[in-house]
Amino acid sequence: MQRQWYALGFLLLAGCAREEPVYSEQLFTFGTLVEISTYGTPPAEARAAVAAVTGQLNQWHQDWHAWQPGTLTRFNAALQSGQPTPIPATLAPLLQRSQQLAQVSDELFNPAVGKLSALWGFAQDELPSGPPPESSAIAALREAQPRMSDITLTPRTAQSRNPAVQLDFGAIAKGYAVDLAVAQLKARGLRNAIVNMGGNLRAYGQHGDRPWRIGIRHPRGQGILASVTIQGDEAVLTSGDYERFYMYQGQRYHHIMDPRRGGPARGLTSVTVIYADATTADAASTALFVAGPEHWPRIARQMGISHVMVVEESGKISLTPAMAQRVHFELKPAPVAHIVTP
Ligand code: AMP
Ligand code: MG
Repeated sequence: MQRQWYALGFLLLAGCAREEPVYSEQLFTFGTLVEISTYGTPPAEARAAVAAVTGQLNQWHQDWHAWQPGTLTRFNAALQSGQPTPIPATLAPLLQRSQQLAQVSDELFNPAVGKLSALWGFAQDELPSGPPPESSAIAALREAQPRMSDITLTPRTAQSRNPAVQLDFGAIAKGYAVDLAVAQLKARGLRNAIVNMGGNLRAYGQHGDRPWRIGIRHPRGQGILASVTIQGDEAVLTSGDYERFYMYQGQRYHHIMDPRRGGPARGLTSVTVIYADATTADAASTALFVAGPEHWPRIARQMGISHVMVVEESGKISLTPAMAQRVHFELKPAPVAHIVTP
């Protein structure tokens, strides 16, 4: 995450040296460093547009937070009652999109697993230092099978038939926020921009006469694994086991839950997806991560995702043919990459 940042920072620095009309701001929200950069808009206009977006981001961060008391925690408590519950406006699109995306991912993208994340110690600011939870507690939650399809949505209400359901939109919230932010910047007439939430980003237009170029972090170590140049308007999202994790007795416990196991997903260390919108790409990167080395191509096909790069725990890198066309490896010597057709 940090390094992608440098990659981008480097480009922008290069831009500043030539006095190009770049306006860029950083803030810390959604638990990560967020950078919004624009090109070719007069600074006062760019500043006003970016200020509007950052205000919104801070509000969404509060509204959608999975454990700090707010709109989502209140909604979760109400859902738990099993009664029809009014849907707060800020959560309605997340609920609807999540239900669709859960369905097409065989519920591997499953924002109903909030209790599992909490059990493993990820629904808190400070990560635990281990040991992992009791196996009986894991089994109980796994067998309760909380899913998005346990929730019945009407235009105004939601009702859960499974008390194990607890919503955590961590796997889609950044993507959705990026899409909303980009829509706002476009609505204000900005022709070139990038909204980067800790390496989860969407960019459109150009950086002067060059395309926007972004780095994808190596899942182990701090370097950049590969770079991608943005064509037109695209989102690039990565899910990784390095983003939130703790080590206990030499074993890594990370934040992406496999509902089938009742614990951290095994097999992959990072998944990068390019797609037209960041919401879908975010859900997909998480779903493919959970699907693991054997099943990600099938889930990618089901979700309509043709640009995927995965890194396995062994270090093996696989790409779809479409992704191979887009990725430029920055490691020297370039790693061996396996082409996998979904
Ligand atoms: P991402 O970094 O986009 O892959 O999202 C990971 C975050 O999504 C975690 O930190 C949890 O908040 C949440 N989460 C964990 N496991 C899942 C899952 N299987 N489906 C949906 N959300 C999940
Ligand atoms: Mg995600």
